[in-house]
Amino acid sequence: MTDHTSLIARLESAGEGSKALSMDVVEACGDCAHRETEYYCIQGDSGFTCTACGEDPHRPAIAPVTTSIDAALALAQRVLPGCCPGVAKNVHRRDWYAWIGDKHEEGPLDLGNGRSGSPALALSAAILKALSTASEESK
Ligand SMILES: [Zn+2]
Repeated sequence: MTDHTSLIARLESAGEGSKALSMDVVEACGDCAHRETEYYCIQGDSGFTCTACGEDPHRPAIAPVTTSIDAALALAQRVLPGCCPGVAKNVHRRDWYAWIGDKHEEGPLDLGNGRSGSPALALSAAILKALSTASEESK
C-alpha cells in the first residue's frame, strides 16, 4: 500500500479543504479522481469521459471528502465498512479531532485519528491512517 504520510501531513496542516485535496484522498482510497478527460458530445450527458476509467467525471462529481463531513463519513463507511468514526472540536486547541473506531469490541478502539482545521479534513486524515493500520494488521 502506498505511504500516505505526506498527504496526511498536508491534510492536517490545511486550514480548509479543497477539491484538489479531495481528489488526492479519493485516489489514496483506491478510486479514480478522473484527472484526464476526453471531450465528445452525446446529447443527454456532460460530453466528457475519463481517460483512465471511462466514467463521466461530472456525474457523479468527485466526492468532496475534505469539505463535506457527510462525504467524509460516507467514505469512511465505504472503505472501512462498519467502522465507528467520530469527530469533535477541541475547544482549547481550536481545531478538530477525528477518530476511526474499530467495529469489533475486542479490536483496537482507535484505528486512526487526525486533527485539522475542519471536521472533514480531520476525518480524511483519520481515514488514511486507519487504512494504513488495517493494511499493517493484515500482513
Ligand atoms: Zn476516472
